[in-house]
Formats: sequence, structure tokens, C-alpha cells
Amino acid sequence: MMMLDWTRRAACLDLDPELFFPITMEGPGRSQVEQAKTVCRGCPVREPCLAYALSTRQAYGVWGGTDPDQRRELSPTAARRPETVPAQPLRGDR
Ligand code: SF4
Repeated sequence: MMMLDWTRRAACLDLDPELFFPITMEGPGRSQVEQAKTVCRGCPVREPCLAYALSTRQAYGVWGGTDPDQRRELSPTAARRPETVPAQPLRGDR
């Protein structure tokens, strides 16, 4: 598998992936997310990690110190949920 160059310096490289990709973002998963974000705060490649997550529309897990909801706020069009796309008006309406 190809490894992106910045990932070699990732603070999470040898940590349990479950911390960054909990099964749920609620309950116990919320505490895992907060622990993961704490690791990200000290990570030397936080910026490229976040840029990668935004550009590839990562919908799950903690990337660059952000959770999915935060990434949707940073890039609302890139990660917009399908159900939030406004409906197109029908022809002949009015
Ligand atoms: S910013 Fe967080 S998720 Fe990204 S490489 Fe660093 S520790 Fe891992």
C-alpha cells in the first residue's frame, strides 16, 4: 500500500486506529474522539492531514484534529450530506 509522505511523521502512527475511528461518535466513542484530538494537537503533520481529509472527503474518524461534523463545517460543499442538498424547482412551477 502506498504511504503518503507526511504519514511517516504522524503522531498516531503506532497508536490503536480504534482511537481515531471509534464505532460510534457518541457515548464511549466521544471520549475516544477527544483522546484522539489531544494526540492531534501535538502532531507535526496536522495541517497536511486535515487538508488530505478535506480533499478526499473523509466522512469517518478523526483527521487533523477534527471530527466529521467539524470537517463538514470547514468544507460544507465538499462533505455535504445528500439530504441537505436543496431540491431543484420543478419546471412549470410558478
Ligand atoms: S493530525 Fe491526528 S490523525 Fe492526523 S496524522 Fe496527526 S495524529 Fe494522526
